[in-house]
Amino acid sequence: MIGGTRLGVMGGTFDPIHYGHLVTAEEALVQFNLDRVVFMPTGTPAAKTHQRVSPAEHRYLMTVLATAANADFDVSRMEVDRPGVTYTVDTLEALRDEYGPRTELFFITGADAVWEIVTWKDAQRVAGLATFIAATRPGYDLEGALRAHERAATGFRIEYLTVPALAISSTDLRRRVAERRPIRYLTPEPVVTYIVKHGLYDEVR
Ligand code: ATP
Ligand code: MG
Repeated sequence: MIGGTRLGVMGGTFDPIHYGHLVTAEEALVQFNLDRVVFMPTGTPAAKTHQRVSPAEHRYLMTVLATAANADFDVSRMEVDRPGVTYTVDTLEALRDEYGPRTELFFITGADAVWEIVTWKDAQRVAGLATFIAATRPGYDLEGALRAHERAATGFRIEYLTVPALAISSTDLRRRVAERRPIRYLTPEPVVTYIVKHGLYDEVR
């Protein structure tokens, strides 16, 4: 792929975005020589239809606030603007059509999502559209997930990415806000300010 572009895609609910996401994307960018990383906040996430998720516009804007200072990071509205439930296969096909065959797609996921990808809609098509970059995440067994892929011969191309361990999750941030505990230093300051300004996560859920 000489001269081609290597595009990272960091998918997530980002409810809210935090330093775990940002460190993972930055490590993927550098370790895999990506040209850029596009953060892709989900519209209505397929895996979370039974959960209450904050309005997409809030999640999108917090992602913009968190990434604005990094020249190699972008945020896409593609999934936020697509009506209905979000499926990664549709996103990857849209990106392939938009960027053309000279762009190689790398989908970045944390260890907890690595085995789940086999359950995604049109998993075989997904496997053909992107290489996965699987990042270590405290509390999740990445090696085990990769072994499971090999044993089941799922056909996914998956690269291993070690990132500095950050035991941060959006679930914990939401709980902290609801319990009036600090979230400072777990997510960039503008995100903290945005959460306070809009009264997000005020109730435990
Ligand atoms: P929630 O607790 O609501 O599920 P989350 O912290 O897992 O939130 P998501 O938006 O679900 O965040 O995650 C988006 C992607 O980022 C997923 O692939 C997830 O595995 C990865 N990720 C999230 N937090 C970390 C972390 N601390 N280290 C490495 N990867 C992470
Ligand atoms: Mg998650």
